[in-house]
Parts: sequence; structure tokens; C-alpha cells
Amino acid sequence: MDTFTDRVVLISGATRGIGKAIARHFLEEGAQIVGVYAGNNEAARIFADENSQFADRFELLQCNVSDEQQVASLFSWIDEKYQSLDILVNNAGIRRDAMLAMMSYNQWQDVLNTNLTGTYLMAKHAVLLMMRHKYGRIINITSPVAHLGFSGQANYAASKAGQVALTKTLAKEVARKNITVNCVSPGFISTDFIANLDQNLLAEYKKMVPMRRFGTPDEVAYAVLFLASNKTDYISGTVLEVSGGL
Ligand code: NDP
Repeated sequence: MDTFTDRVVLISGATRGIGKAIARHFLEEGAQIVGVYAGNNEAARIFADENSQFADRFELLQCNVSDEQQVASLFSWIDEKYQSLDILVNNAGIRRDAMLAMMSYNQWQDVLNTNLTGTYLMAKHAVLLMMRHKYGRIINITSPVAHLGFSGQANYAASKAGQVALTKTLAKEVARKNITVNCVSPGFISTDFIANLDQNLLAEYKKMVPMRRFGTPDEVAYAVLFLASNKTDYISGTVLEVSGGL
């Protein structure tokens, strides 16, 4: 694995769960991080405390990735401050589970807005910056439900399948600009995202995993750093599963 010294890395959902581990690993490898989050300032404060030894190499900003104006302002700020962006990790994601017949319009819209429209907005602005320097790595965090389906997650599964389709399409569009676009697809990972699920349900899910355990945020981060590295120039439009064999 190369180091990421002087690379400018933008990570959405950087202050909790998987995004926090991704940010930490990039910081340990020398990168300059811009981490965005939705609104949990306490989590951002904890991130800053835990990573105080890297304080000169990260910025944490509140930005709703599904808000066109907020994303445009974020990228203006990045352009002004760094004049470049090397790596984008679209990690921010939410779930609002319900059986489709009972799913409210808002449950549908909120999930599609954050997970899919957020990925579109961030990727769109990122490629415009990356094309300038003819270099870029975009990694979108999808989910195995994109192809497996999961009861109660029609909105989430559709958003994650949409991310895969977006990834494969964008990979073709920017291939000649030396920008790669890939997905990492984590299985069940122990974070806040699944923490509020019923304990019996979690035990059932664990039995579904061939390795009989949930993954860790670090295990997802390793895959992201691999796809973001200089060793992967010829990998684009793929989905790398980190799911214990799901
Ligand atoms: P967490 O719930 O632990 O963290 C989610 C992060 O996303 C938080 O930092 C949150 O900010 C941020 N976020 C949410 N909505 C927005 C928004 N509109 N704009 C900006 N930031 C936002 O989730 P995980 O770390 O578990 O999940 C990360 C990604 O991995 C998601 O895309 C998820 O779908 C995917 N994934 C997770 C799996 C798992 O089992 N954990 C399995 C498969 C995929 P704030 O802290 O301010 O709320």
C-alpha cells in the first residue's frame, strides 16, 4: 500500500462508524482530510479529540450531501483552499426501514436523497475538480442489499443499487481522465447504523454470515484505501464486497 501524503481526501459521513475508520486510516497514511457530517456535532467533537495528533490535517464541516447548494458551497471552499481533490469517499448513508406497502413517501425520499442524490451531487462536483488535474479516485459505499434485496429495505436497496449503476456509468465517462470510480460493499458492520436493531434479529443476521461474525469499520477502511491507492490504476467500475462471504 502506498502512503497518501499530500493527497486531499473528501469523506462524507466521516465522524461516525465506517467513515470515521476510513478517515483515521487516511490520516495515519499522511492524507489531508475534509470530513463532512449531517449534524451530530458531539460525534464531530469526539472525532476531533481522538485525532488531535493530526489536527493540522483535517477539517470537519457540517454539510447535507443531498442539498445541492450546500454541496456546491463545500466544493467552492475545497477549490479555494486546496485547488484540487484527489479522492472522494461517498460514505454518508441512512436507512428508514419499512415494508414497501407501509413505507411513507418521506421514508422513501429521505433515503434516496441522502444515499443516491448525495452520491450524485458529490461525484458531479468532484469529477469537475479531478478532471483539472487528470487524477482521481471515487469510492462509493454501497451494500450487498443492492443485489440481494432485504425485506423492509426497498428504499435502501434501491438507493444502493442506484449507487452501483451510477458507479459503473461514471467509471466509463471519466476513464480517459485517469479517474477511477468503484464501490466498496460492506456486509453487516458493527456501527450505530445497525445498533438499534433488535438483539434477536442481530443474532439471526449473524447466522446468515458465512464467517458468523459482523465486520469492523477498519475492515471496510482497508478496502477503501486499497481502491484509493496508486496500485489500482486499472480497476474501475467494480464492486468490492467486504461481507464475510455473504
Ligand atoms: P453510521 O450511521 O454509523 O454513520 C453515518 C454517517 O453519515 C454519520 O457521520 C452521519 O452524520 C452521516 N450522514 C448521514 N446523513 C448525511 C447527510 N445527509 N449528509 C452528510 N452526512 C450524512 O453509518 P455506517 O458508518 O454504518 O454506514 C456508512 C455507510 O456504509 C452508509 O452508506 C451505509 O449505508 C453503508 N453500509 C453500512 C453497513 C453497516 O452494517 N453498518 C452495511 C452496508 C453498508 P451525523 O453523525 O452528523 O449523523
